[in-house]
Amino acid sequence: MIAAPTWLSVAREYFPDADDAMLDYIIWNRTGFPSFWDTDGGRLTVEQVYRSQLARYQDFHQRGVAMCDCCGGEAKGSKRFKGQLCGRCERQSFPSRRIEKKRAPQGRAAR
Ligand SMILES: [Zn+2]
Repeated sequence: MIAAPTWLSVAREYFPDADDAMLDYIIWNRTGFPSFWDTDGGRLTVEQVYRSQLARYQDFHQRGVAMCDCCGGEAKGSKRFKGQLCGRCERQSFPSRRIEKKRAPQGRAAR
């Protein structure tokens, strides 16, 4: 008898060397688990979406590239959250820093 795949067993296919804690992190933080799946209006199955997310993170992991916690893109360009956010997500999450930068040149010009 072949056991039905579980969330953990599918994740283990992509990360065979990961321990349970790492797989737990990947499942909860790098996929839509438990209920956030964009199935494109039902065109895709949840398993297809899950597998594509695992494959995407596997690619980042193998290349040694950090994934943005917010958008899932490459986490580069952030000044305050290096390796956690990309520059675009950092600016959108903390817009006040952007405004400060814009005002600085105006202050200088007024002198
Ligand atoms: Zn981002």
